[in-house]
Amino acid sequence: MSHTYEVINPATEKLVRTIEHLDLDGTDAVIAKAAKAYETWRHVSPGDRGKMLRRFAEVVADHKEELAQLEIDNSGHTRGNALWEVDNVVNVLTYYSAAPERLFGRQIPVPGGIDVTFKEPLGVVGVIVPWNFPMPIAGWGFAPALAAGNTVVLKPAEYTPLTAMRLGELALLAGLPSGVFNVLPGKGSVIGARFVTHPAVRKIVFTGSTEVGKGIMKGCADQVKRVTLELGGKSSNIIFADADIAKAAASAPGSVFDNAGQDCCARSRILVEASAFDTFMEHFEVAVKKFRVEDPSLATAEMGPLISRKQYDTVQTFLDEPVAFKGSAPTGAGYWMAPTVLLPKNTQARSWREEVFGPVVSVMPFKDEAEGIAMANDSEYGLSGSIWTRDVGRALRVSRGIESGNLSVNSHSSVRFWTPFGGFKQSGLGRELGPDALDSFTEVKNVFISND
Ligand code: NAP
Ligand code: MG
Repeated sequence: MSHTYEVINPATEKLVRTIEHLDLDGTDAVIAKAAKAYETWRHVSPGDRGKMLRRFAEVVADHKEELAQLEIDNSGHTRGNALWEVDNVVNVLTYYSAAPERLFGRQIPVPGGIDVTFKEPLGVVGVIVPWNFPMPIAGWGFAPALAAGNTVVLKPAEYTPLTAMRLGELALLAGLPSGVFNVLPGKGSVIGARFVTHPAVRKIVFTGSTEVGKGIMKGCADQVKRVTLELGGKSSNIIFADADIAKAAASAPGSVFDNAGQDCCARSRILVEASAFDTFMEHFEVAVKKFRVEDPSLATAEMGPLISRKQYDTVQTFLDEPVAFKGSAPTGAGYWMAPTVLLPKNTQARSWREEVFGPVVSVMPFKDEAEGIAMANDSEYGLSGSIWTRDVGRALRVSRGIESGNLSVNSHSSVRFWTPFGGFKQSGLGRELGPDALDSFTEVKNVFISND
């Protein structure tokens, strides 16, 4: 039995659209369709597959305004972010559209003949997406998966299905054969779980909470199903006294409050070298107070609302620690919350240890380089982080010392589609994006051909 779901605009709490959820039989039917389409798609010549992906990218670009507006209404993303997110899908599709023609194997010297390797597609790939970045995270999975010759079943998060559903329609409009790229709106416990148990789905790409990710990894073990996990984070922004403190402070709000802090790479721990602590906090307070939290459809908005009432309530539970200062937020309808800066008493404080996934940051001083690194590494997460210093040697030592997959020196970016992205420790398994992502969507086949 399928049922309907009401998509709510988190900035207004108004109904955006009612959608139909897929049930288990519906899910199986789409997986069967994807498995059938795989038999054709895998044999489309590399040049034609590349062309179709470029065409898909062009059609997405042609619908930039529409997709961005959908994300603003569905997710409360700022206009600036939503436009960037559409561009990201276009860029990732374009980047991987060059891959089919460059999916090289190797020729390996052996006695008695020649030996060659092939990168073969896996089959149907299941992509499970969270609600925080619905478009980019979907694209990081489906673009390389399709390029490598797989077909895709994609489950958006329950809260945020609209842009994914539209991307599914645009793929058809761009000429991708029916069944190659399928979007299945519905529940994780139904559709996502079925991707794990269905034998025709050969790989899962999961982005979401560490807890659900662990369950998926366990489930995949049953069929030795391939799995890539992008999970939570508790990333540090480490500021040394020799850094450009004004610049570090001015950029710190964006590094944690962007997307209302609902970002697995949010720098939700700020560590400041003790001798620069007071100067940093003075500048930081100015920056937090002028951070613009407003109607996300405005071009000037730097932060919108949280995704849901539930998320709002969860984030509130972190506010029983000493508050240094707060920014501002609209009142009235919508899941609005002011950016909040906490001064936890020690490293056991909940705000220091747990992922908040909201606009809350904790600040603590450290005494020297060794202590800064140790404090940053004192976590089961290891996704991202930033290091502010003018000393090149220190930048290198600290970068090498931090147990994290994506670091940024004197800047905050983590995700560039040209470069690998993923986590250390319990932040994930495997890497997405960059030149090597195709390895996660292919199997190496070795063939020996005898001279005889
Ligand atoms: P979540 O509850 O783990 O959900 C993620 C996705 O998995 C959703 O599509 C969800 O569907 C689905 N799902 C839920 N239960 C499932 C099950 N038993 N089997 C298969 N699929 C299932 O995470 P979330 O609440 O959406 O997102 C917040 C978390 O994601 C945070 O912890 C954040 O750090 C993490 N995250 C990590 C990254 C990264 O790149 N490392 C990126 C974004 C988010 P429903 O929506 O229907 O429940
Ligand atoms: Mg959840």
